[in-house]
Amino acid sequence: MNPAGLQEVLDYGLYGWALSRYAGVWTGIKCVKDNIEQSASIDGSLERVNIVLPEDFEMPPGGLGIRRGDNVLEKEARAYEYKIPAALAFIRANALDRMILEGGGAPKIGIIASGKSYLDTEEALDLLGIRGTRAAALGVKFYKLGVTWPLEPEGAARFASGLETVLVVEEKRSLIETQLKEQLYGRRGAPAIIGKLDENGAPLLPSHGALEPVQIALALGERLLARTGDEELRARMEQLGQVAARVAALPGIIERVPYFCAGCPHSTSTIVPEGAHAYAGIGCHYMAQWMDRATEGFTHRGAEGANWIGEAPFSKQGHVFQNIGDGTYVHSGALAIRAAIAAGTTMTFKILFNDAVAMTGGQGLDGELSVPQLARQMSADGAARVV
Ligand code: SF4
Repeated sequence: MNPAGLQEVLDYGLYGWALSRYAGVWTGIKCVKDNIEQSASIDGSLERVNIVLPEDFEMPPGGLGIRRGDNVLEKEARAYEYKIPAALAFIRANALDRMILEGGGAPKIGIIASGKSYLDTEEALDLLGIRGTRAAALGVKFYKLGVTWPLEPEGAARFASGLETVLVVEEKRSLIETQLKEQLYGRRGAPAIIGKLDENGAPLLPSHGALEPVQIALALGERLLARTGDEELRARMEQLGQVAARVAALPGIIERVPYFCAGCPHSTSTIVPEGAHAYAGIGCHYMAQWMDRATEGFTHRGAEGANWIGEAPFSKQGHVFQNIGDGTYVHSGALAIRAAIAAGTTMTFKILFNDAVAMTGGQGLDGELSVPQLARQMSADGAARVV
């Protein structure tokens, strides 16, 4: 589920819970800074979310929940034959995907977006002055997805019906676009589907970095202008083009590089001796890579040191430091250290013990690990020296 703002984070949380129970599936919510790091007034009334159970889906005997003595092959078959169809029925019944703009009597260009990209597309439409009657006059249809996987096919097909072109707007890699192409490919009268690539297969909206409303506005406006020749739109596009060119030409005058909090133990613990090299990982010490601390390269949580296991046999360096926090150590870092010991690598893990999982808000460590316990565990695992 991909919420566009805090109200939907709350609402989709409730829908997601109900969907999970109904279809026997895991549900997840996409959280990015644009829909999470916000303040907003929200409606918290209990009657706001009215969960509807589908009437067009027949539960198999025994339902879809977890059960004892389940057979793995039956479990796999249940996932594809029943659970996904049940989830799709739930999405339909609760109208989690919905039409924002109908595009008048004969819409020709459709936009499909979700979550953060939905908000960006709204802004792009504002930049182009496309609202209400203007959207109808220009034939612009806009479909908002609440759930990006699986893509509910009946609503998607209704949205795409009669359109010449569908612009899929999504940040980072394509998820909606590939599903939509799979669903509509080969259908009579299927629209051209563009997004990451344009009509000729050339790059259009980037999969990397940030996708900005101006980029969406230019991609949409160009196609609308080619179809309609609308003079007001032409004027807006010229303005937007000038603004985009001015912004692109601006020198980067302010570079705001994050740093450790005042008093943070990482401030001193990530300093390495002259000539040494260190690796980062998941934790605030990742920021050491942006500082003058000979720290470069990182892994996912629980693989600290793994890059050195592969690199060491080919390196003249002989030794590296690997920073790791106690939160990571408790989570999976202890296994990473065990792997490094098992591989016979020469390296020093610097374990910062600050008694907190700092990066996610300062929760306590699970299991109440102490420094003496940690040291004994390292010795027992075979660390050559523990200080
Ligand atoms: S949150 Fe804690 S660990 Fe992270 S930079 Fe601040 S003081 Fe350091």
